[in-house]
Amino acid sequence: MAISGSEREAFEKQLEAYVGLDIGLEDIGKDRVNAAMVRHWCEAMGDSCGAYTDPALAAESVHGELVAPPTMLQAWILGGVGMASDESDPRDKQKELHRIFDAHGFSGVVATNTEQEYTRYLKMGDEIRARTVIEEISEQKATGLGIGYFINTRTTFRDQNDTEVGWLTFRVLKFEIAEVPVAAETAETGAPSRPQRLRPAMAHDNQWWWECVDKGELAIQRCSGCEALRHPPRPMCGECQSSEWDFVFSTGQGTVHSYVVIRHPEVPGYTYPLVVAVVDLEEGTRFVSNVVDVDPGDVEIGMAVQATIELVDDEMKLPVFRPA
Ligand SMILES: [Zn+2]
Repeated sequence: MAISGSEREAFEKQLEAYVGLDIGLEDIGKDRVNAAMVRHWCEAMGDSCGAYTDPALAAESVHGELVAPPTMLQAWILGGVGMASDESDPRDKQKELHRIFDAHGFSGVVATNTEQEYTRYLKMGDEIRARTVIEEISEQKATGLGIGYFINTRTTFRDQNDTEVGWLTFRVLKFEIAEVPVAAETAETGAPSRPQRLRPAMAHDNQWWWECVDKGELAIQRCSGCEALRHPPRPMCGECQSSEWDFVFSTGQGTVHSYVVIRHPEVPGYTYPLVVAVVDLEEGTRFVSNVVDVDPGDVEIGMAVQATIELVDDEMKLPVFRPA
């Protein structure tokens, strides 16, 4: 239950004290802006702009030299693997604020949006540092995830001359994790409940797909204009912009294109470790789902898998994959 009355009043008063505060720590880039990080980024993003990676092309460009992709801005100050550590600097006001939310039952956190602006292109050798201010904490909101508060921060990036090179705002929702619904039958019998999976948001554009799944069919949307397949379902073709479509049924045969093994945090309704894979379906599109009945250590890129549609809780059907 959400806190109420005087307890909520005291809590919100406590939050107010954080609005406008610098979080107290400066993020200093571990490395100067450099060609190696830019190259890795461009490879990962599929960005082939020569001004980022080809010194000869960059020399002929308006920049006259190699520059970094503007969207890398935050990458220059990220803390690496250490960011995931539970140990935090006691001076960090942002983490302190999050702990206050946790202590009042708002332990869930989800990033909701970010805005960025770039003042200039960063060049090789630039030294980047950033400071972050807690800009705003919303009033209490009822959201699809539960009751919570939005926290807005603004991070300003500066170079070695203390000149601003860009900023980003970041908004997270700290929310009270809703109790997981229990199927009616198990509630009545008093048997140990099996937590339900999170439900997808159903709307005009995807309901047909879930109806196919309910009938045991793995459907793939197909553009009527250029016959490109696409998943998840959406109203317009990314290839030819046609909004006409039909669908084909997949055999469910595919190969693992990539995968991760999720161990933490555990969300009720799922079995851990959870293998989440991007599967190349033989029809020629990709599909994200779980690989089940397999030791996570045995999952490999390129492994042949077969989808079947099955109940993943008391009432929800999903396509899941097994080694073929
Ligand atoms: Zn198309």
